[in-house]
Amino acid sequence: MNQTNLIKPVLDHEYPLITHGKGIYLYDEQGKQYIDGSSGAVTASIGHGVQEIIDAMAEQSKKVSFVYRSQFSTEAAEKLAKKISEISPGDLNWSFFVNSGSEATETAMKVAIQYWQEKGMKTKNKIISRWMSYHGITMGALSMSGHITRRQLFEPMLEKYPSVSAPYYYRDAAHKTIEECDDFYAQELEKAILRAGKDNVAAFIAEPMIGAAGGALIPSDQYFQKMKAVCDEYDVLFIADEVMTGMGRTGKMFGMEHFNVIPDIMATGKGMSAGYTPMAATIVSEKVMEPILNGSKIIMSGHTFSANPQSAATSLAVLNYIEKNNLVENSARMGAYLKEKINELARTSEIIGDVRGKGLFVGIEFVKDKLTKKSFARELDVVNKIVQLNFDEGLLVYPANAGAEGLTGDAVILSPPLTITKEEVDELVRRFAMALGKVE
Ligand code: PLP
Repeated sequence: MNQTNLIKPVLDHEYPLITHGKGIYLYDEQGKQYIDGSSGAVTASIGHGVQEIIDAMAEQSKKVSFVYRSQFSTEAAEKLAKKISEISPGDLNWSFFVNSGSEATETAMKVAIQYWQEKGMKTKNKIISRWMSYHGITMGALSMSGHITRRQLFEPMLEKYPSVSAPYYYRDAAHKTIEECDDFYAQELEKAILRAGKDNVAAFIAEPMIGAAGGALIPSDQYFQKMKAVCDEYDVLFIADEVMTGMGRTGKMFGMEHFNVIPDIMATGKGMSAGYTPMAATIVSEKVMEPILNGSKIIMSGHTFSANPQSAATSLAVLNYIEKNNLVENSARMGAYLKEKINELARTSEIIGDVRGKGLFVGIEFVKDKLTKKSFARELDVVNKIVQLNFDEGLLVYPANAGAEGLTGDAVILSPPLTITKEEVDELVRRFAMALGKVE
């Protein structure tokens, strides 16, 4: 039996066996069709069964499927690194290929610490994160995440890193304007750095838009500029966790492009290979690489499967496919349409409190009372109920209520493949409305 599903099932029944997928659709062995309205875990961003990708995978497997990263490189890995450097902002030119988003953020954290070590600043090794965040499941990544349900078993083993608030304007009742909220968040970061001691802080990490821990929470246009200014003032590197928001998901190639801030290090995964194979990357700027290249010349991290040729060829084909089919633009266009349609539903819904998002990354927060914004009691498990009802309707939605307990509301994310058409959005919304009707 496949044990990977046995981690607290979200659904109240056995997992169906999927036999095949095509475009935005998945089909199970009973012949039931599902719209992949979440792209799995915001991953299958070009849809299922794309022949071009299958061909690229077959081509690469005919050449070579594995070489070890400290013995050889491959044409596929070199081309992918070049492509990523071209599409990444600023001087983010160096790619370190890993196999999951967790490995990408954990490598980012290690590179940040190594940067300061190579510069002779041995004490700069704390990472500040936002409590409302999810950066991955491995111990380092989890130490930077406030995802309580995923942390609690291992709490004693996690690093005690400082954390600050994330922008959540819908629920920030303490400040009158968004500007006041942002000033508060920036001051909080400054205080956290000063409390830890600026000589002890290596980096600040943030998701451009919060996914699993918040349900597509979008900061203001100024938020990241203010946070980056604090980082710069105290010599703290800025790591953007683009694992969920990268590769066109939010209507730009990378989420940070919405905010005109260039990170020092970026982590990406998920949509990078659109789920066809495991592939993720830590993308490092020239600035950060310089002392390493002039010093030890080796990034002190790596995995057996890093830069796997099969995955590199797949990812390259996926990125070319995104470009060739203008999927970043389609994400912006169809995302705006999807948000408009969900907003229409929200007007008559008793329980949709907030609709937010950019591109095909749309968060919907449910409340018990729209006026007071009171959340559902956690025991009611409204998110799992909504996930289940949508599942029954043949629509997959992503649950996002499991962040910092007590801070987050009850939200789901709609993040269908970036290939989705207007007619398919209509059908997705029709199924969502059917499921919603059964909750209200
Ligand atoms: N970072 C973010 C923002 C994520 O959303 C996730 C996964 O949901 C991760 C990191 C971890 O990625 P993975 O599950 O591929 O290890």
